[in-house]
Parts: sequence; structure tokens; C-alpha cells
Amino acid sequence: MNEHVLVMLPHPDDESFGVAGLIAQSRKRGIPVTYACGTLGEMGRNMGSPTYANRETLPELRKQELISACKEMDITDLRMLGLRDKTLEFEDDEYLADVMETIIDEVKPTLIVTFYPGHGVHPDHDATGEAVIRALYRKKKEDRPVTYCMAITKNREE
Ligand SMILES: [Zn+2]
Repeated sequence: MNEHVLVMLPHPDDESFGVAGLIAQSRKRGIPVTYACGTLGEMGRNMGSPTYANRETLPELRKQELISACKEMDITDLRMLGLRDKTLEFEDDEYLADVMETIIDEVKPTLIVTFYPGHGVHPDHDATGEAVIRALYRKKKEDRPVTYCMAITKNREE
């Protein structure tokens, strides 16, 4: 069985805080990992203190951070989808699903990791998870890869 992990998340750093362990373990076992990153997180508002970026420089900075992070984690294939940060919830549902479906069909993953729709805390997280699930529903049940969905809660202690 040719295993291949496909991580589908909207922001640079989602992969690092959410799936770095799984990515590292997969790579140690020689399994290729593709990361489809939806946006460049270019609408982020935290520019640091003292500030190290502004609205114009942030996209390039986050792109470089993303590339560096992927190198650290030994991600084999990084795809930047060029979607617009903080607007994914307003994209057409079928269009976003098309974007995800195209990548899924190309990569033919045995495992997908995305956000759990409705439990991603950020609207872009939910929209990405929903689009992936929508794309998978288009396939026959037996053709769907195993899919892990990350849920984040603000009240996990409770
Ligand atoms: Zn995020």
C-alpha cells in the first residue's frame, strides 16, 4: 500500500501547531506528506511588538515562514492554494470543494488531515474542513481516504 498523507489547512502555522507530530512521524517512516495550505495568513493582525511586519510585508514574511516550517518538518510537497485569508467562509461552497477535490484526486492520499467542520474555532478553519468533507462526499464511500479532523475548543478543560 503506497501511503501518502495530505494535510489540508487554511493558514501557515496551522500545520505546525496542529499536525507537526503526525507529519514528523510519517516522514520518519518514509511516507510522503503533501501540505495544501489555503492562504498566506496575510490578514493577520498581530505584527509583533516591536512590530516586525506591516500589511504589505506580512504575506511574503508568512510565506517564507511557511516554507521554512515545511523544511523543518521535512514536508515533501508544499502547495500554496492562493486563497484569500479570512474570506474562505464567503467563498462558494462548491468552488472550495472543487479546489480540494482537484488536489485529493491528484495526490491520491491514504490519509487526509483537516479541521473538524464547525469545531475549528476560526471561520477559515471550518470552511476548509467543510470543503474537504464536501469533496469526499462526492466520492463513493469505498474510495474515500481515512480522514482525521482536528477539533479545537475554547472550553476543553470543561
Ligand atoms: Zn489557522
